[in-house]
Amino acid sequence: MRYLVISDIHANLEALEATLASADGYDRALVLGDLVGYGADPNAVIERVRALPEVTIIRGNHDKVGSGIEDVEGFNHLARFAIAWTTNNLTPENKAWLAALPQGPVIIDQGVEICHGTPFDEDVYVFDDLDAARALRSARRRVCLFGHTHLAAAFRLADGGVRAVVPRRTAAFRVDVGGGRWIVNCGAVGQPRDGDWRAAWGEVDTLCGRVTIHRVEYDVEATQAKMVAAGLPELLVERLKLGR
Ligand code: ZN
Repeated sequence: MRYLVISDIHANLEALEATLASADGYDRALVLGDLVGYGADPNAVIERVRALPEVTIIRGNHDKVGSGIEDVEGFNHLARFAIAWTTNNLTPENKAWLAALPQGPVIIDQGVEICHGTPFDEDVYVFDDLDAARALRSARRRVCLFGHTHLAAAFRLADGGVRAVVPRRTAAFRVDVGGGRWIVNCGAVGQPRDGDWRAAWGEVDTLCGRVTIHRVEYDVEATQAKMVAAGLPELLVERLKLGR
């Protein structure tokens, strides 16, 4: 099986379209949450993702707040502003669809599961080896895919310890997940925060036991212009091009 892995789209339609255009041939798309928040195209992104032929989608923290099933506690003032804008601009149908998204973790097959933050708590972040060790202990499949941090990373549990594999800045970075237990973040489609503004997405080949993390350029100026026109905060507009 070949899975397309997309996470943290954050209402960035141009980044999503570039990602889908560069992904050639996959059996199922896995969407790891945070479809909305920060960006100016929440409805178009939802409609595009819903229309994918074979897709499994779980919710993220911005999806919960944007659809009104959780309050903004824990969001900084910029995220609060953007999510209030999102709530006001979602169609009633899309808001109801977002509110009904399942919570991770979701088992995909015998070897793969997905979550937004961690398998034990969808809102918890995995940044370092210690976080990864906790997450790996609660994973029910050998390869667990996660998002939420907007940073591509892979951690392997082996001999009781955790080893981190940090992706290099290349067009495509491969991680051999053929042996051991892994937790892998393929990065953020709509708002990367590793200093590289290009959309990040992943490809899992279960036959080869390989995860490939790709980067693709998109029309970031068009995305920024839409955000300005929507009246979204300038800092959110600027950080997009900085990859921060
Ligand atoms: Zn996010």
